[in-house]
Amino acid sequence: MLRTHTCGELNISHCGQKVTLSGWIQRSRDLGGMTFIDLRDRYGITQLVFNMETNSELCLEARKLGREFVLQVKGQVEERSNKNSKISTGEIEIIVHKIKILNSSKTPPFTIEDKTDGGDELRMKYRYLDLRRNEVREKMELRHNLSILIRNYMNDLKFMEIETPYLIKSTPEGARDFVVPSRMNPNEFYALPQSPQTFKQLLMISGYDRYFQIVRCFRDEDLRADRQPEFTQIDCEMSFVEQEDILNTFEGLIKHLFMKVKGLSLSDFPRMSYADAMKYYGSDKPDTRFGMKFVELNNIVKGNGFSVFDNSELVVGICAENCSEYTRKQIDELTEFVKRPQVGATGLVYIKYNLDGSLKSSVDKFFTPEKLEEIAKEFGAKPGDLILILAGREEKTQTALNVLRLEMGNRLGLRDSDNYSPLWVVDFPLLEWDEDTNRYYAKHHPFTAPKPEDYSMLFTNAKDVRANAYDLVINGVEIGGGSIRIFDRDMQKDMFKVLGFSDEEAQKQFGFLLEAFEYGAPPHGGIAFGFDRLCSVFGGVESIRDFIAFPKNNNGRDIMIDSPSQIKQEQLDELQIKLVIKD
Ligand code: ASP
Repeated sequence: MLRTHTCGELNISHCGQKVTLSGWIQRSRDLGGMTFIDLRDRYGITQLVFNMETNSELCLEARKLGREFVLQVKGQVEERSNKNSKISTGEIEIIVHKIKILNSSKTPPFTIEDKTDGGDELRMKYRYLDLRRNEVREKMELRHNLSILIRNYMNDLKFMEIETPYLIKSTPEGARDFVVPSRMNPNEFYALPQSPQTFKQLLMISGYDRYFQIVRCFRDEDLRADRQPEFTQIDCEMSFVEQEDILNTFEGLIKHLFMKVKGLSLSDFPRMSYADAMKYYGSDKPDTRFGMKFVELNNIVKGNGFSVFDNSELVVGICAENCSEYTRKQIDELTEFVKRPQVGATGLVYIKYNLDGSLKSSVDKFFTPEKLEEIAKEFGAKPGDLILILAGREEKTQTALNVLRLEMGNRLGLRDSDNYSPLWVVDFPLLEWDEDTNRYYAKHHPFTAPKPEDYSMLFTNAKDVRANAYDLVINGVEIGGGSIRIFDRDMQKDMFKVLGFSDEEAQKQFGFLLEAFEYGAPPHGGIAFGFDRLCSVFGGVESIRDFIAFPKNNNGRDIMIDSPSQIKQEQLDELQIKLVIKD
């Protein structure tokens, strides 16, 4: 080994020992007769000392070394006179006797410091240097620790980790596939899996009744800050279970992770139906760290001559505590906020419940003080509160009020990242109608089972059929989702039929699964967690990209290796692919 110890290991108990360290030069300082170098590796930083008086030759050599040079040094551990209590090696330093330059380094394009001067793009281009920084390394360590904890926990519960293929078959359902041409099968393409969904179900039919896999998935979707074209799932499936068993098993996993990583003992996760989540929060992933629940006002406000309310499908509001002193300017700001195209509200109505008990609103013309009081009562408002109301088409208004609620949560400091509020959202609708294509899509995926009591409505009242499908939401972020699956061939065929597949298409796409259902498929269900996102929740950061060693940028590019890129004509020829470049 080129070292006896790491740079984070030595302390006062090692004083007097002769040691060999290897690492990178974090920084060096010349103080007249002395030169100090901070030597860094993954484990920490150790101070090296060179003394001009006792060893001028070595000291002069040390002064020539630049940042990020790779060194091996031999020396003796000594107690420091000027101790640094912030680092574990802060009580000692190494009096160096010998230096060996293992490699030199160009001056890095940004400082390898906690507060770096490098912008996002530059750090992405030199990601291998960014990974040297403490902050980034700590995120990688968190990810690693979580993966080990998960594997051990699952193993203890007898889950087997089984790898499923990456080169599979393209299916039109779900997101867009990444496809891979096959040289040996000209004209044909593999697809990269969006998830191992059908394989894990086949494993249940094979009798591997508890499966999991920490697995890469690929979706060719438009990117957002928290999306990557390839991402990692903790993918799980169990046989002989009902929804309740899955929720309990994986609530156990998440609680275990919080205990181990954060030392937090979470109480049982509340459950909320999809219908209630929409009604009270306007979102299927409500942030329940704070209240401010929606209150519907249709029954109270209609018929008072205010045409905006009278003509709306939904009039709904929230009550922001202790905000009655909001100024005109602040209210205008909120109004502009909800009117932005991304939010899409047409206006904002407010009612101030002043501290003196009086009520003042933007619709005083239409509502008597008694009526305003009645509305305030509906919210359980008290003097000092501010009621904010939106109106319009139901879904759009719910969505807009959700955004406003989250904004008010931010403004009032109610969304503390150290506070965790997990929630199971259950009873999702099985299907979702798409206006553009004029057909139903599976809300979760086509293998999700309808609730037995709703199955009979599949062909009569499809939109009201609920599924045994569930999501785990933490602080308004969807961490995982799953369902109880269909395991009966006829029911699966019905499902494909509702989704508009002809028998032939269903057979072509999913014939293997339909056939497998005929060989003794057990009842089964599962869930998948977004591992990158789970890491970001534990790390208290919004972007999942920070937790991926080599992520892609917002255009889906890896700017370090410069990918995607063109391929050679020979490669195209071998694949029998002819490019048609459109302008
Ligand atoms: N395969 C599903 C997904 O990727 C998760 C599941 O149903 O287990 O969302």
